Amino acid sequence: MDFLRPQTWADALAAAADRPDVVPVQGGTDVMVEMNFDLHRPTALLDLNPITELTTWEENPDGSLRVGAGMPYVRIIAELGDRLPGIAQAARTVGSPQIRNRGTVGGNLGGASPAGDLHAPLLACGAIVEAESAARGTRMVPAEEFYVGVKRHCLEPDELIRAFHVPSATGPQYFSKVGTRNAMVIAVCSFSLALFPAERRVGTGIGSAAPTPRRATAAEEFLAAELDWDGPLDDAVARRFGDLVREAASPIDDVRGTADYRRHALAVMARRTLAWSWRDHRNNGEAA
Ligand SMILES: Cc1cc2nc3c(=O)[nH]c(=O)nc-3n(C[C@H](O)[C@H](O)[C@H](O)COP(=O)(O)OP(=O)(O)OC[C@H]3O[C@@H](n4cnc5c(N)ncnc54)[C@H](O)[C@@H]3O)c2cc1C
Repeated sequence: MDFLRPQTWADALAAAADRPDVVPVQGGTDVMVEMNFDLHRPTALLDLNPITELTTWEENPDGSLRVGAGMPYVRIIAELGDRLPGIAQAARTVGSPQIRNRGTVGGNLGGASPAGDLHAPLLACGAIVEAESAARGTRMVPAEEFYVGVKRHCLEPDELIRAFHVPSATGPQYFSKVGTRNAMVIAVCSFSLALFPAERRVGTGIGSAAPTPRRATAAEEFLAAELDWDGPLDDAVARRFGDLVREAASPIDDVRGTADYRRHALAVMARRTLAWSWRDHRNNGEAA
């Protein structure tokens, strides 16, 4: 096995172009586990760790954030928790401190597992993936177009993820996950909600309950039409929202849970995250 260790982003793109068989590795918390279990024997690894710009973040001119693909979860939580509360909440549920120290959003995206925890908040917040190749340059892929199948994303073999872009929160955001225990667990299903009060809009993301992470678009449209942003949350609206989120899922029965249970849990999480968000919204955006 070849081990490639480019020192610059340009060299990493060149290596990905020269060797379509190469497997990028950032934190290695997915790649190394697959190798240890002999599930995957890459002919070449492309270690992105020397490229320090992947571990930085900055504010874009429009106020949104550009977060490097290789920024580990611990730093997202510590440095961006106030601006990206939904993403930070999901990051706090990933694995253990050791995994959060190494694991990255770029790696979660690269694996594109329907059970990856960051996909739901990325969808809810309207994140955009910055991908790049030596041959074609940069392209910006909205999160909802990124996932194309079970553990499959839309990137070409010569493309690498450089960063993700996401607006700073302008309203409450929540992430909720059901697992068979409290930590170190693959989600049975997950749900994320983001309120955009100035736009009178709600974003959603469903995890681990369909072949790909997905938005509950009909549920978002329902809330945009029915929410009274200046009043209390109507229980019937919250219930209908939960029903529409449940209907947006297409889960399977597997070792972690049944499809019926996942649908039920999603409706509950949707209602709860809406209630929590509404409480914060009515509390002038401050979490209680
Ligand atoms: C004990 C344990 C517990 C875990 N718990 C959770 C959990 O609770 N929730 C969860 O979602 N995940 C969990 N995981 C999985 C893993 O930690 C996450 O998916 C993490 O985000 C992967 O990030 P990484 O940087 O380690 O990725 P890596 O292992 O380095 O890479 C993962 C994939 O992304 C690709 N990749 C990496 N960087 C790039 C890039 N810049 N461009 C293109 N492709 C790239 C790799 O080729 C590979 O296919 C767990 C793993 C372990 C071992």
